[in-house]
Amino acid sequence: MRSDAQKYKLVSDIQILMQWYYILIIVIGALLFAILSLVVWYMNYISPYPTGKVSDNISVIKTGIVNCYVYSKGSKRILIDTGTSTKKLLKGLATIGIEPESISNVFLTHSDPDHIGGISLFSHAKRNIGEKSKVKNPEKYQFLDDGEITDVNGIKIHAISTPGHRLGHTAYIIDEEFLFTGDALRLKKGEVQPFLRIISSDFEKQKRTIEMLAELDNISILFTAHNGFTTNFDKAIENWKKVKRKD
Ligand SMILES: [Zn+2]
Repeated sequence: MRSDAQKYKLVSDIQILMQWYYILIIVIGALLFAILSLVVWYMNYISPYPTGKVSDNISVIKTGIVNCYVYSKGSKRILIDTGTSTKKLLKGLATIGIEPESISNVFLTHSDPDHIGGISLFSHAKRNIGEKSKVKNPEKYQFLDDGEITDVNGIKIHAISTPGHRLGHTAYIIDEEFLFTGDALRLKKGEVQPFLRIISSDFEKQKRTIEMLAELDNISILFTAHNGFTTNFDKAIENWKKVKRKD
């Protein structure tokens, strides 16, 4: 037979255990809610376009969370960014029927791992990146100045310094009408917004960069790294123009 003291101790032990049990359930619930909220937010924020053709001379490749782009003219091919990994980039290139060896030049918007992940497939190619970018093995790269124009057998690639997300971030205007912006900005429901503030090197600079891009004329397609592209550049970026057009 248990004494009253033993019975009391047993009851109080059970009560303490129950308290911990409830606390544990609340903590796990809060953690699950936080993870779920993060996933929902992330799914809304990141929306890369599926691998395929954009036009006769432009293809998009989805490597996980990132888009990179192949631009072709005749037999010449260049690549803008290399995605998250060699494996995913190879798979994407195979889907659109392109051999990595057929790409002669790679233009990187910046050197974050999700943009430079497939670079090792291009030891045969010329690798180009913005002048202030930091890369491993810099001797393997050509660093482009702001405004520098590269001609790849008739493909005209105009490098524009677009600091903010990263200091050396560079966008490219190809053949004077296709603007590849990497992580300089994002698209949300067809409108330009700055890309993720918490991972931006200088968020104010990022906004100035978007204002500068808003002054560009004759852009037919605006491409991003994480939200696909839009064929309505003027409308997408109109809120960033310093002087709104009257026409
Ligand atoms: Zn990125």
